[in-house]
Amino acid sequence: MYDAAVVGGGPAGLAAALYLARFHLSVFLADAGNSRAALIPKTHNQPFWPEGISGIDLLDRMRSHLIKYPIDIVRSEVAEIRRGQAGFELAAGGRQVICRAIVLATGAVDRRPRMSESDHSAALHSGLLRYCAICDGYEATDRAIAVVGMGDRLYGEAKFLRSYTSTVTALSETGLVGLSSEQHSELAAIGVEVIDKPVIGYRRLDRSLEVLFLDRGRTFESLYAALGSVVQSRLAAALGAKMSEEGCLLVDEHQRTSVRGLYAAGDVVIGVDQISHAIGQAGVAATALRNDLCGATSLLR
Ligand SMILES: Cc1cc2nc3c(=O)[nH]c(=O)nc-3n(C[C@H](O)[C@H](O)[C@H](O)COP(=O)(O)OP(=O)(O)OC[C@H]3O[C@@H](n4cnc5c(N)ncnc54)[C@H](O)[C@@H]3O)c2cc1C
Repeated sequence: MYDAAVVGGGPAGLAAALYLARFHLSVFLADAGNSRAALIPKTHNQPFWPEGISGIDLLDRMRSHLIKYPIDIVRSEVAEIRRGQAGFELAAGGRQVICRAIVLATGAVDRRPRMSESDHSAALHSGLLRYCAICDGYEATDRAIAVVGMGDRLYGEAKFLRSYTSTVTALSETGLVGLSSEQHSELAAIGVEVIDKPVIGYRRLDRSLEVLFLDRGRTFESLYAALGSVVQSRLAAALGAKMSEEGCLLVDEHQRTSVRGLYAAGDVVIGVDQISHAIGQAGVAATALRNDLCGATSLLR
């Protein structure tokens, strides 16, 4: 029996576990080990790392902080959470866990452009492929960039990135850009080129990425993927938690979901997908969980 279980060990889950343990609560953490943060070649917008830091190094730093506390950590996916008499029950790493409350920090998984795993990894790590304009639009300043996506997402990302560089091209892998005539006009007015031909492939060059169309190729210094993501909210959905159309969990101002005892933080929650935000939400979720539990159990020492 634990006071709290944390599901997910990215920045949100690790921060939640740290706060909970420092409240002298007993904590179990299960993590499947596929944090989005591990894909970051080097972040320059994480306050306050002036030299930047890779996502893998940042996660290592976070985990090295956790091992100072008595937190039970297992590397395992949680397949199901059930409501139990004392709160919740879940299975992870061959263990049956009972806990009073849960912080869900399972994140989201980006939809990828159609590239092989090895091309994807190489393009990502060299900055030729990017996923987060808020995170690294600054690094694309005055560069020739393209955005791949469709509809409102393509429109929004291309417009956002136009404030970093004058050379923005919007394209869709299927050739169907899905823009309204107003969106077409607005993008044209700010100098965003729209290509409505299907992409037949990508080729990595020395310092650029070539996007291949049937009749030609176009090279860009970076390609932004605006293809959306699959929010990992399945466990909460099965418990009946309320969520947005995209599957993001809806929470109150203390990160409580609509299911009593279930809190959420990070990319699984509706909001800005940023490490700083995920950590902030985790601190709020853990504090609310602690205060809510305190009503039921004494934390006096
Ligand atoms: C290429 C790239 C660059 C980025 N750059 C930046 C940047 O520079 N600055 C910035 O602030 N943000 C950046 N981000 C966004 C940032 O990575 C995310 O906002 C952040 O990782 C969200 O943290 P999280 O803990 O909510 O989710 P995640 O980091 O994705 O962690 C979720 C964890 O939960 C686990 N999990 C999921 N389901 C289960 C389950 N059922 N059971 C157990 N475990 C489960 C996953 O395996 C994963 O380990 C970037 C993202 C990408 C993809």
